[in-house]
Amino acid sequence: MDFSISQQSQETLARVREFVTEELYPIEKVDQGKSFRELIPLLHEKRDRVRQLGMWLPQIPQEHGGMGLGFLDHAMVSEELGRSPYGHYVFGAQAPDAGNMEILLEFGTDEQRQRWLQPLLAGEQRSCFSMTEPNRPGSNPVWMETTAVRDGDAYVINGHKWFTTSADGASFAVVMAVTNPDSPPHKRASQIIVPSDAPGFNRVRNIPCMGHEGDDWMSHAEIKYENVRVPLTNRIGEEGAGFAIAQARLGAGRIHHCMRWIGIAERSLDLMCRRATTREIAPGEMLASRQTVQNWIAESRAQIDAARLMVLQAAWKIDKVGTRDARIEISTIKFYTAGAMLDTIDRAIQVHGALGISDDTVLQSFYRNERSARIYDGPDEVHQRVVARQVLKEYGYRLK
Ligand SMILES: Cc1cc2nc3c(=O)[nH]c(=O)nc-3n(C[C@H](O)[C@H](O)[C@H](O)COP(=O)(O)OP(=O)(O)OC[C@H]3O[C@@H](n4cnc5c(N)ncnc54)[C@H](O)[C@@H]3O)c2cc1C
Repeated sequence: MDFSISQQSQETLARVREFVTEELYPIEKVDQGKSFRELIPLLHEKRDRVRQLGMWLPQIPQEHGGMGLGFLDHAMVSEELGRSPYGHYVFGAQAPDAGNMEILLEFGTDEQRQRWLQPLLAGEQRSCFSMTEPNRPGSNPVWMETTAVRDGDAYVINGHKWFTTSADGASFAVVMAVTNPDSPPHKRASQIIVPSDAPGFNRVRNIPCMGHEGDDWMSHAEIKYENVRVPLTNRIGEEGAGFAIAQARLGAGRIHHCMRWIGIAERSLDLMCRRATTREIAPGEMLASRQTVQNWIAESRAQIDAARLMVLQAAWKIDKVGTRDARIEISTIKFYTAGAMLDTIDRAIQVHGALGISDDTVLQSFYRNERSARIYDGPDEVHQRVVARQVLKEYGYRLK
């Protein structure tokens, strides 16, 4: 594997980092106590600036209005964007829209692309992805209650979902629903576009998380789909192909999430070091002079570097052999990188003392919002089992 970064990539990364540092870090000073909606005018000014600089939609091919970065280049840009909670949003690369753009580009019909993808690419609308249900384990997604039953030229959808991120204000949801209950488990569900203004699309609430209800893009909704009727043409891909499509977007999605987490960890380590080298704990003695703090810095450095190498190696393998044959690497980076990030955020808060708990630094936002990294996209334990199964196989032991 070649770890060198081309001159052009280095220039792109430097431009992105400069923008994030100069334009987005200062927002952290004005966002305190504000809802996401209140920040939108400011964030959209920043989006305009990103467009002028030719950096809008880094992950999207140029013919669709993006920068057309390759997989690895976008992964590295994702790290830079991750340093600010607003990075991905301001560049048009935010989850869950980025994933929905990807599947519509790959599997959408011309009509679907025109009607649903174009406004996403333009940043005029938002979307969400609605799979997890309160009454079924998200860690076993093939076991699902929501159904989409054919009725003439329409599907009638019924089901109860929750943790549909960014549903508040989204113009449509991509809903996972069982269309083929008699097929094998992985071929039962389909992905169906449901406009949020369709009768029967009932957003019950934004679920308060860690004391914050959130709003707009920064929220997680509970939704009831009650006899929602949508045309059959709203289905993405073949009937029963919902999981195959989800798998297809999984590899790239994991890499980008992991690189975003590495950006968060880098920012946290940077804040940790700044504080350690400026906070006097006795006259003339900096916090950095204490061995424990040095150990935290060294441990964080090592974990972040290890995580980045693992993620880039996984990305390289996906490029070479595809998502399926890289599934062990994809599982390994998912739990390892989440852990490295959370360890680093926690140490950074500890070094800041009471300041670390306050809203005066971005660390509290990382701490609150990123704890879920060990849960969504498959909890740690599910990924660890995937890895262990493979390792144990080499010893002749087969996990069920
Ligand atoms: C912030 C956030 C955003 C999210 N966004 C979305 C979204 O946009 N769309 C969407 O559809 N969903 C979303 N989710 C839901 C997420 O995908 C699920 O929470 C996740 O799949 C886990 O499912 P669950 O919560 O039902 O936990 P469960 O499946 O009930 O699992 C609970 C716990 O059991 C343990 N466990 C599970 N399986 C095993 C196993 N095999 N071995 C050992 N232990 C195990 C794990 O510790 C796990 O955390 C989001 C969740 C969060 C927290």
